[in-house]
Amino acid sequence: MTRLVLACLSLTLLTSAAGPAWSQAPQPAPGAQPTAPAAQPSAAQPAPAQPSRPPFETKKVEGTDNVYIFRNGNHQAMFVVTNDGVIATDPVAYGRPTGGQTYLDEIKKVTDKPVKFVIYSHHHFDHIAGGKAFKDAGARFIAHKRAQERLAPLGDPNTVLPDEVFDTTKTIELGGTTLELSYHGLNHSDSTIVMRLPKEKIVFIVDTIPVGTVPGRGMIDMYPLETEQFIEKVLAMDWERLIPGHPGQPNGRLGTKKDAEDQLALLREASAEMKKLGQEGKCWDTAEKEFKLQKYADWPGYEAGLPFIARRYCGLWGRGT
Ligand SMILES: [Zn+2]
Repeated sequence: MTRLVLACLSLTLLTSAAGPAWSQAPQPAPGAQPTAPAAQPSAAQPAPAQPSRPPFETKKVEGTDNVYIFRNGNHQAMFVVTNDGVIATDPVAYGRPTGGQTYLDEIKKVTDKPVKFVIYSHHHFDHIAGGKAFKDAGARFIAHKRAQERLAPLGDPNTVLPDEVFDTTKTIELGGTTLELSYHGLNHSDSTIVMRLPKEKIVFIVDTIPVGTVPGRGMIDMYPLETEQFIEKVLAMDWERLIPGHPGQPNGRLGTKKDAEDQLALLREASAEMKKLGQEGKCWDTAEKEFKLQKYADWPGYEAGLPFIARRYCGLWGRGT
């Protein structure tokens, strides 16, 4: 009898482990015609179980010759392999003492060319700590000038300071690849840049535009009104796919302009709601308790993200910060 109950329980667990339907949705191959019907799993064939995710991995971006994503834990970075060397980005090794070397070793599995550049997306340690292995291998570190101003006084022992900074734009040309770096004002931080591969129509933007998730801790020091303007500027740029600094949901997918529009809408709705509560004099405690974004309740990160969103917008509308 006990065994039977356990068997039923296991079956229930297996069924629920399959997760909501969207987590099984096949991803369209990049470059595929948008009108092509997506293959649907046949009703007779059970969907395959989700393989457990390795701690780190490197994947080539489909439809490109030389663009890769290195993921370590829940952080990821883009790197581009050219005939004359590699352009890497964020070391993503905060709290992972060997993470920078792991990233470099992963690059070495793809090419024997040296890493010429490491570009920082912004100054937050969770994305840029751990670059020593790249520095020792001779890479040149580039960041927005505000990243240097933030990092220098902190003297973080795990974070390499930039060798070179820029203010508004900088273009990297290496081995036939062009990577445009540009700064469009305050957003998720005061040093967050856009990296754009014009030929591939890919952008790498970290933290400001989460893909398919509700924003969370990243709200702490973001600039709410300026972020709306930033996303509008990003939407006006020429690109088709967005590589985020945290894997997109579901299945680590890349973002589209629709994702950027959705995130902008979420921020505007959150801001409008908190404006009302803030101007009614309800910040902090009452407003933070009353704040809901019911429309996004089924998005990943909703429960965890809500308090961060409420707190940040109470800072704006209830305090003026
Ligand atoms: Zn950040």
